[in-house]
Amino acid sequence: MSPTRSVIGLLFRSASHCAFIHADGRPCPQPLIEWEQGYPTKAVDVAHIRSASPDGPRHDPDYTDTDSFDNLLLACQKHHRMIDYPKRGEVVYPIELCDEWKRRQVAQPGLPPEVLSTSAMAEITRQVEAKLQALTVPDFEVELLGGFTVEGQFMIPTRLESEGATRMELADSERYLGVHVVNRGLAGATIATVGIEFAVSDQQLPPYSYELFPMALQLPDTVRYQGGARVLSKASRTWWSLPGARHLAHCALVQQEQHGRPPTLIRAAAFLESTDPITPGPWIPLEPVLRHLMTPVEPLERQEFTLPLHTS
Ligand SMILES: [Zn+2]
Repeated sequence: MSPTRSVIGLLFRSASHCAFIHADGRPCPQPLIEWEQGYPTKAVDVAHIRSASPDGPRHDPDYTDTDSFDNLLLACQKHHRMIDYPKRGEVVYPIELCDEWKRRQVAQPGLPPEVLSTSAMAEITRQVEAKLQALTVPDFEVELLGGFTVEGQFMIPTRLESEGATRMELADSERYLGVHVVNRGLAGATIATVGIEFAVSDQQLPPYSYELFPMALQLPDTVRYQGGARVLSKASRTWWSLPGARHLAHCALVQQEQHGRPPTLIRAAAFLESTDPITPGPWIPLEPVLRHLMTPVEPLERQEFTLPLHTS
């Protein structure tokens, strides 16, 4: 999933500045490495011409060796961002253009061996590997949300405040619970399952299977729900529960029967396809969550108005 050290070494030894060339023909002058008091710092990223990920820019399913020397450019951060910009990047900077930049970057004079010593090259390789590692680590944030529908169609997410969610007095409003997952990382990843967890005070209760989320696949001894989806970098997704308080109240009741004490706290959890853990959302009190899920108190139609009566 990462270029080898010899490929990284070859990239830095065969060029001297950023690969980006402006539309008017001016090359970006950013040097590959900046030296400060004898210490080298890499000043460019290793950029893929064809991305390995199907979500990424310029992905070519027939091109498998995406970490090869021929498929990699060295580009300054600004220009790396531009060529990889979601959707727009691959339109403005297609494969053919990037391949041309590659040919021209290889033709750059390159750094003389005496400048790029073995120890300097080792340091640069370490910096490149650290950066590439960060690109592959997903960074998720999980949160429990409330939600209600308007006219049976539009889901409006709400915060589950401790004093209870807003009581929208809509006749046809159904109440939902959502597991909201935000990907703050630089790589997309597939969330395999989402779910909820209960606790008494701060003691987490052992998980068991619920059928709270639609399309749920019950797994033995787990609180997880099937229905995975890919969440792209800087994107988010919400899994919505079945409507109403009945299902969650049932879950809470079963927990109480199994453990002798009623749960008081609830939180959202999400799990990757791999076993890598995602930090669950914060614990929040269960009671206002249940209150949120109750149907609206008073539908508008049934409200009684006292109208002044004019009798003659
Ligand atoms: Zn540049």
